[in-house]
Amino acid sequence: MTAVTADTHLRGIIFNIQRNSSSDGPGVRTTVFLKGCSNRCDWCHNPESIRPKPQLQVYLDRCIGCGRCVVACEHGGQHLDDGVRRFDREVCVGCGQCAAECFTGALEISGRSMSVDQVVAEVVKDEVYYRHSGGGVTFSGGDPVLQPDFLRELLIACGERGLHVAIDTAGNYPWKFLASLLPHVDLVMYDVKILDQELSRRYIGNDGTRSLQNLDHLAATGCPLIVRTPVIGGVNDTREEIGGIARHIGAFESLLYYELLPYHPLGDAKLSSLDLPASTQFTTPDADQLQTLAAIARHHVSEVRPHAPTVPTNGRVSGS
Ligand code: SF4
Ligand code: SF4
Repeated sequence: MTAVTADTHLRGIIFNIQRNSSSDGPGVRTTVFLKGCSNRCDWCHNPESIRPKPQLQVYLDRCIGCGRCVVACEHGGQHLDDGVRRFDREVCVGCGQCAAECFTGALEISGRSMSVDQVVAEVVKDEVYYRHSGGGVTFSGGDPVLQPDFLRELLIACGERGLHVAIDTAGNYPWKFLASLLPHVDLVMYDVKILDQELSRRYIGNDGTRSLQNLDHLAATGCPLIVRTPVIGGVNDTREEIGGIARHIGAFESLLYYELLPYHPLGDAKLSSLDLPASTQFTTPDADQLQTLAAIARHHVSEVRPHAPTVPTNGRVSGS
């Protein structure tokens, strides 16, 4: 860890801070979700994380037609015409004024500008639990590395307080982004989703080459590393994919373990709230299938951890 002082006034866009997280690294952790992602995974668990700016999520089935949002919006984004509610995303700037006035939960703003100071004030609330459990703070997303300057200052500020810091990333960006953060990081959790380039293009929107190259660069630095794969039924739940990923990472000396995370359909309900098209219907691998895939991976990696298929209660997931 490098001894430098954080610029605590720098601001970034955060879409959730989840306390008491037990699946984003060692011990009890707080996971901070940063907005913005350079992949376009068809199964995305957090579609509200993809765009870098704040976005309004609209659940019209919860609307009672009170009209408070229409009065609150200064940009002409909300309408109530003869009892019919309409939202104009084209003019919306994501300020959240309407959501603040809506008491039914029909409007939610995803993403807000926060300073380093504000984020740190949140994460230190559970400092005592981190110390007792060997936990700390994990920065996830989206992909947090896509806000590299803000993330660097967050990492430095947490490091100044002696907090263990991890980042959860998928690696689709220029290597220099991640390289500039590593002096301030204790652990990287790296998502490897698909090896086959054609499959990757089809389901993620790019062939995955840059992510794999960055993973190799990262492994060469010796930074402690956990590799994670979201196991998507009908996409990568095969001997070829999981065995191939395990073979690729098996020689990394800095690898702590390999995690298999089962797909769940949590993101589907959020798509229409963002005016995004429905995704392909995928299946969730069951516990037996995950154990079988884990056994295949253990031919190359000594420690493989398959997670049980569960649905998180707060609606946001890392490693997706
Ligand atoms: S404030 Fe909420 S409940 Fe009222 S009209 Fe707007 S969306 Fe509907
Ligand atoms: S988020 Fe702001 S700009 Fe968008 S509809 Fe609501 S009040 Fe209007």
